[in-house]
Amino acid sequence: RLPIVAIDGPAGAGKSTVTRAFARQMGLVYLDTGAMYRALTWWVLRQGADPADAAAVEPLLLDLDLQLSAGGAGEQLVSINGFDVTEAIRSPEVTAQVSLVAAHGCVRQALTAQQQAMGLKGGLVAEGRDIGTAVFPDAELKVFLTATAAERARRRAQDLERRGFEVPPLAELEAQIAARDHQDSSREVAPLCQAEDAVELVTDGMAIKAVIQALVDLFRE
Ligand code: C5P
Repeated sequence: RLPIVAIDGPAGAGKSTVTRAFARQMGLVYLDTGAMYRALTWWVLRQGADPADAAAVEPLLLDLDLQLSAGGAGEQLVSINGFDVTEAIRSPEVTAQVSLVAAHGCVRQALTAQQQAMGLKGGLVAEGRDIGTAVFPDAELKVFLTATAAERARRRAQDLERRGFEVPPLAELEAQIAARDHQDSSREVAPLCQAEDAVELVTDGMAIKAVIQALVDLFRE
């Protein structure tokens, strides 16, 4: 199969922006797995199910139609059960609930299987929390992309502003990010953690271009 690049890291580390650009530059398929957990969360909320209740979420996995496709600028379009949720999954409501949904074993099993099926032929860059540890443990290159909490809060604020959502104070954003990281790192199944063989990249003070170039250099090594 063709190579697979795994990019993991905590919330707001800038993974999406650099991963998308890197994939495009290398001619690899871009897979944002967080978008899959977000889309499912959107659906759970729409169905009025309790995101924290595995027994309420599990039946929704049975006839799930979760589709990813490539948009014009190399971005990933997401639809669930026929609804285009590309923008809606970035809302603060979904962001606040997604870690609850992502903690259920049944959810991880279903989405991991779909991700692995998409990676059978390789040739992709997958971004998430458990790509190097659980989804593609044999990936040719694993990168753990991170930044300090303050830096990540600043980036999240910019992202919310760009998408037209209300921007809470930085201290509040930092607390939200810390809470999500804590939930993602302390769950039982496939928690957020750095794979032993991952290269850690701390991106504080690095321009996006420089981070992309660092990935390109690592990939070519
Ligand atoms: O990367 P993003 O912020 O879009 O991820 C949203 C949430 O989806 C994470 O906070 C985490 O709870 C979940 N997630 C996960 N495993 C992945 C990707 C995302 O549990 N591989």
